Amino acid sequence: MTTLLALDIGGTKIGWGIVEAEASFTVTERGSIPTLAAQGGADVAARICALASELIESHPAITGIAVASAGVVDPATGTIVSATDIMPGWAGTKLGDLLSAHTQLPVRVLNDVHAHGLGEATLGAGRPYRSVLSIAVGTGIGGAFVEDGRVAFGSRGIAGHVGHVHHHFAPDMVCSCGRLGHIESFCSGSGITTWYNSLRPQDKPEVDGGRALQELADSGDPLAQACFARSAYALGEATASLVNCMDPAVVIISGSMTRSGDIWWDGLNEGFSASAMTPVAATPILVGSLGGDAPLLGAVSFFLNA
Ligand SMILES: [Zn+2]
Repeated sequence: MTTLLALDIGGTKIGWGIVEAEASFTVTERGSIPTLAAQGGADVAARICALASELIESHPAITGIAVASAGVVDPATGTIVSATDIMPGWAGTKLGDLLSAHTQLPVRVLNDVHAHGLGEATLGAGRPYRSVLSIAVGTGIGGAFVEDGRVAFGSRGIAGHVGHVHHHFAPDMVCSCGRLGHIESFCSGSGITTWYNSLRPQDKPEVDGGRALQELADSGDPLAQACFARSAYALGEATASLVNCMDPAVVIISGSMTRSGDIWWDGLNEGFSASAMTPVAATPILVGSLGGDAPLLGAVSFFLNA
């Protein structure tokens, strides 16, 4: 049996898990600390090193550290290549080198969305399938293409940025990347709210957050319902475009938007059917099964198969 420390570094919190890997993988203990991202990348990295030391001292069986991190990661070196403003100063952090120098243990780092997809593909809903397109639809939209248990990283670590596919439904919406009309700008949890607010009649109040928009849709508000239906339809069409290109055995959708109810799921399936080519039209679309453990388990999978 192998015991690893798995870390999931996000803009709000740093999750950790002790993972026992044998025939199956089990998270035997888990916890988290706040990221305090505003204190800067060097401070965040120092506290990650301190956290790792503490956990290794209390769990001497740990033989390696598997890390899923926000930001574009060079999976060969564990360096953070770039990061958004949510984590100022995180870009350039040599996380893999820092952690291994601090703990004297082997370390592997990959991007958190890649880790999430790898976890679902190898240990979650995608386990029976040889190739998986994983799409996470939460505050943003990310994804990963995994074939034979390996993530397609692309030549710059960017592959899988599903949110930055263009769709014609919202050509004027500004994306987090600065471009116009990408699906993240109106299909993500934050995007759909911004989209609703941009379309609402002036006598209607602004909606504050995805939950409020969901409640409005559930109460029968036609514009709120249309936003859910049309954004999901666009996401379905964009998903079909990707499936037409890559022909995965299965699509796995996860993230908070998957809990949006029938209007959303019907829209997604209709959009997919409208745009999927005949040979791939029956590709199953499943919901992720690992929840918050997906990045931890994906990081462990990456560590062990390196
Ligand atoms: Zn974009």
